[in-house]
Amino acid sequence: APIRVPRSEHNISRKMIDKPALDVLYGLKRAGYDAYLVGGGVRDLLLGLEPKDFDVVTNARPEEIKRVFGRKCRIIGRRFRLAHVYFGRDNYVEVATFRGQGEGQRKTDGQGRIIYDNVYGTLEEDVWRRDFTVNALYYDIRNFSIIDYTGGLNDLRNGQLRLIGDPETRYREDPVRTIRAVRFAVKLGFNIEPQTEKPLREMGALLAEVSPARLFEETLKLFHNRQAVEVFEKLRHYDLFRHLFPVTDALLDEDEAVAALVVAGLQSTERRLQIGKGVNPAFLFAFMLWSVLERRMQPLLAEHSPQEAMAKAADAVIAEQMKHIAVPRRFTQQVRDIWHLQLRLPNRHGERAARLMEHPRFRAAYDLLGLRAEASGDEALKALHAWWTEYQALSPVERVAFAAQVA
Ligand code: ATP
Ligand code: MG
Repeated sequence: APIRVPRSEHNISRKMIDKPALDVLYGLKRAGYDAYLVGGGVRDLLLGLEPKDFDVVTNARPEEIKRVFGRKCRIIGRRFRLAHVYFGRDNYVEVATFRGQGEGQRKTDGQGRIIYDNVYGTLEEDVWRRDFTVNALYYDIRNFSIIDYTGGLNDLRNGQLRLIGDPETRYREDPVRTIRAVRFAVKLGFNIEPQTEKPLREMGALLAEVSPARLFEETLKLFHNRQAVEVFEKLRHYDLFRHLFPVTDALLDEDEAVAALVVAGLQSTERRLQIGKGVNPAFLFAFMLWSVLERRMQPLLAEHSPQEAMAKAADAVIAEQMKHIAVPRRFTQQVRDIWHLQLRLPNRHGERAARLMEHPRFRAAYDLLGLRAEASGDEALKALHAWWTEYQALSPVERVAFAAQVA
């Protein structure tokens, strides 16, 4: 039987919930449906963290959700059909219908992977297909109580991340749960419960079967946060990193400077997020793959100009990486530009410096140069980076004189 914690015995007040999410919960309730807040929103509020987003789950079917919210509602997805209820252009609340367990209709492939899951059910059924116990807590908009079927509240108190059900089965159903385990353990500062932890290393190999487009989204969630270095170290610990960046991973054991560059890049990601600056997927891939690119370029330099060698190497490195993670084309083009600028940054005499600075990827390229200097300890790179730092700090008039001095 579930544990029901009444409003008087937990800390979640309606004031803590985003207005749009509350509107959706009340809208569904008024239309006669059951509606709950679920997932990371409930978990994070209970822990005193600020939720990234609020997910709603209901017994209303997608078409019914659409009827309640009309033009504000868009139905998306195939494997899982979901409704998005919009409050402004990029602001929406994700609303899912309870998933059931009707084995007849839920489709899995030969390896036990779920490929189709639009069997609707009840709250009691929905609970068991969620991943971790702490992600399976429901906040009931009828009476503001919290419902716990799986021991999530207890795990939350003990700082434990535990998969619901048999861990190996759950990882086979959806191998992305392996990297989600690492992400949540780091984000929440939780221990991974031993049974949940044990199959991690072995199950990672199944990530090869996950769609590269989905892995792109998951990779951003892994590294675009303030604990990116710790996530990287934990992924390495469980040997999961190699399923995302296999070639980079192979170099990590060979050369300390490769790890130093990755860590420096992730640290700079953390710093930017700490001070409220944006982060660009292209920059992430540019530093993650830079060491691979350098090695791929080396043998080509005998017969090609540096520019040609880099272009050829970049094609190969990106094509290889895309087998694992589908980076959208607009970002791969930026990655190439950031790399290409590494060759141009030394040529800064006279008007070249000003022209380079106008390149839309100049800032990212300058940052990558800084990471390379830091990670390699190379004096020439450090001096070049310092030159560009100084140059940017000058007024436009001073810059002309400064750039004229370069030999
Ligand atoms: P955050 O948004 O902070 O990354 P979250 O827990 O909200 O964390 P989401 O990816 O937004 O994670 O998913 C919302 C909820 O949907 C989860 O809390 C979980 O209950 C369920 N869920 C998401 N992905 C899976 C999955 N791969 N397998 C099972 N349940 C999942
Ligand atoms: Mg969420």
